[in-house]
Amino acid sequence: MLDPNFSIRDAARYAERQMADELPGWRVAWWQYAGDGRFVVKGAVSTRYRTRGPRKGQPHWPAQADPTWREVSIMNEDVVAMLVEEEAKSGKCAHCKGSGQQWAGSDTQTQGCLRCKATGVAPGARTT
Ligand SMILES: [Zn+2]
Repeated sequence: MLDPNFSIRDAARYAERQMADELPGWRVAWWQYAGDGRFVVKGAVSTRYRTRGPRKGQPHWPAQADPTWREVSIMNEDVVAMLVEEEAKSGKCAHCKGSGQQWAGSDTQTQGCLRCKATGVAPGARTT
């Protein structure tokens, strides 16, 4: 079972991938777990990025009236399917992205990944 803390970030990534053809550069600004196996994400195309401060590299979001704002609904199982596919391709644990560490309350706190037992290797991955 995949940790929802990671699934939300992965859901954002999934949405960005889905939108890439229609709106290149579209990024997720806001997301929410809808509670019924579904995520709702909202994003837009940002053309300006912060150049300084603690949020350096983060987008300056366009005004609400900007036509690139879209709300996208994503099924949890589609995100999981993407992760399973990536895991099969890379052999890295989809939960920790191969780092062996998982989120433990904040961006600076981590603990050994429970899914791969902190090895970073996808459980069941074939090692050739
Ligand atoms: Zn892991």
